[in-house]
Amino acid sequence: MSPEELRRKLEFYQDLGIKQIYRRVPVPAAVPTLTTPAPSGMKPISIDIQLPGLVPAGDTLDRICSDIGDCTRCRLHKGRNKIVFGVGDPAARLVFVGEGPGADEDQQGIPFVGRAGQLLTQMIEGTASKEGIPLKRGDVYICNVVKCRPPENRTPEADEMEICGQFLFRQLSVIQPKAICALGSTAAKALLGGRDGVTKLRGKWHKWHEIPLMVTYHPSYLLRPYNQNAKRESWEDLKKVLHFVYD
Ligand code: URA
Repeated sequence: MSPEELRRKLEFYQDLGIKQIYRRVPVPAAVPTLTTPAPSGMKPISIDIQLPGLVPAGDTLDRICSDIGDCTRCRLHKGRNKIVFGVGDPAARLVFVGEGPGADEDQQGIPFVGRAGQLLTQMIEGTASKEGIPLKRGDVYICNVVKCRPPENRTPEADEMEICGQFLFRQLSVIQPKAICALGSTAAKALLGGRDGVTKLRGKWHKWHEIPLMVTYHPSYLLRPYNQNAKRESWEDLKKVLHFVYD
């Protein structure tokens, strides 16, 4: 990354309200170094800048929410009714991450309350109960990669994911769950990078900044009648996650 790109990226973080920064979790990527040209006869000064994983000191979910404010950082704000921040236990041991709000979520300001949400609730509570784990939807935390509804429920675009992804990063860094479950390929891409789809990634443990992460199918995909096999696989994935987190 060029110094100019670095400078723009830092300004971008400052626009998000991130002024005081520290590294909460190990950053796997190489750390970019900005080197100021040294006047002749003097040693160059190197400033290490931690780009990924920037989190304000003493961050909280309330602070993230207030930093988001009445957000107009990307085009998604134009069509939204309500910002859908996240719901559940702020100290949850398990966080589910979806793609972005749909129509019902946009109306209510709560993630996963429509048909896909009802299925997700059933999956969490039903699987837990079958496995002898006393767990309700309110015991986990649920949020999305983007906080505003994309028009016609289209997939969020790369820049929208990058802008809003900073808030998701902060949410996960504050909660520090024991595991994360990424629902569908958008969430998987936002958290893991790469191009692999759910079929390839699901069922195995990955890591988001040292936190174990499972990828599984998005509940909307499971609602389609011809996806019975995916449904079964999804239940298997969820069982793995629940036993890992709650045993
Ligand atoms: N789909 C998502 O990805 N998130 C929601 O909140 C609802 C549907």
